[in-house]
Amino acid sequence: MKFQTRLLHGKSVQSYEAGATVPAISQCNAYSYESSEQLEKVFQNRAPGFAYTRIGNPTVDAFERRVNELEGGMGAIACSSGMSAVTLSLLNILQSGDEVIAGSGLFGGTLDLLHDLEAFGIIVKFIPRVEKALIEPLISEKTKVVFGEIIGNPGLNVMDIRETGDFLHEKGIPLIVDSTTATPYLIRPLEYGADVVVHSTSKYINGSGDAISGIIVDGGTFHWDPERYPGMKEYAKFGKFAYLVKLRNGIWRNMGGCLAPVNAYLNIIGMETLGLRMERICSNALALAQALEQLEGVTVNYPLLKSNPYHKIAGDQFRNKGGGILTIRAGSRERAYAVINRLKYVKIATNIGDVRTLVIHPASTIYLHSNREAREAAGVFDDSIRVSVGIEDAEDLIRDFTEAIKGL
Ligand SMILES: *Cc1c(COP(=O)(O)O)cnc(C)c1O
Repeated sequence: MKFQTRLLHGKSVQSYEAGATVPAISQCNAYSYESSEQLEKVFQNRAPGFAYTRIGNPTVDAFERRVNELEGGMGAIACSSGMSAVTLSLLNILQSGDEVIAGSGLFGGTLDLLHDLEAFGIIVKFIPRVEKALIEPLISEKTKVVFGEIIGNPGLNVMDIRETGDFLHEKGIPLIVDSTTATPYLIRPLEYGADVVVHSTSKYINGSGDAISGIIVDGGTFHWDPERYPGMKEYAKFGKFAYLVKLRNGIWRNMGGCLAPVNAYLNIIGMETLGLRMERICSNALALAQALEQLEGVTVNYPLLKSNPYHKIAGDQFRNKGGGILTIRAGSRERAYAVINRLKYVKIATNIGDVRTLVIHPASTIYLHSNREAREAAGVFDDSIRVSVGIEDAEDLIRDFTEAIKGL
């Protein structure tokens, strides 16, 4: 089955109760059992079933299975937000004294989080691009994970996953990737050698901007050496499921970052059109980038443009799709604001992956807490505009942006 067919008819799409084509919202905290013995078995994972929604819920479970199938993982754990997914994917394996190597071109919230982790004795070393040549000199025996975004939001640098993963595995280091902007439509990172994939499912997977949520998908392929990851020792017996079992029984449930059932439901409805939306979003984004590239006074960053340094890797890895984000540099902050304020159809809002086209001036919003150096390392300049392209008609978008820029 191809992408959109699998989304609708894949294994994970269960026959829901009474032949329902979408799952019921199991809006309920606790599940009761006939006897103490039965509930005991559920708690011990010796019988299937749900006990308490923070630990597991049927609607959330249905969502986890569907994303897991799209990513080709061993299993998935849904979280209350993308930030929760990023945080817990790391805390599941890290302890004080450990080192992380991460791209400096990460989503602003993730950059802030990595600085927060310093208070817990975790050291983060930043590199401008997540690639072998830059990682190698920073590796020490304390390096426990490399974290990067496949398409950086909003810097739009593209990771060569195969090369990075192969190199890291030789060194016994796992690669965790945030694939929010790439989506499983562009790539299944686990097949390219990533070990764990996280998403802010608030974005493209949800699709209409109506449920904050995140997910962690594990490929089950990384060998967690108990000497290097002491916390993994007691989970080694779960083999390929060690990372997931530790996460589910440990920091994920204990920190309470579960997804609300209604949000899982909204995501399931939303994700059923992921292939359709991404096809339109990617063609709109390329058409818009190509049109704006012709205009004077602005420069455009979009991975698939011939002028872009990531043109080749994006073409190869993503089957000639470039994703839904582009950035425009307008020459100054004033000009950037003027372009944004002149747009007619486009909403000024801090989100991506919506059906509607959204724009934002990242330096004064998402990167407000970063200094200029950190902002510029993330590809955010005073004159940058981030555009999250939606599913409108391309001609309307091109006209709206062209008029806003020409009117400067
Ligand atoms: C939005 C985003 C996040 C954070 O997700 P939330 O759902 O807002 O918590 C993390 N990574 C990337 C790449 C994002 O775009």
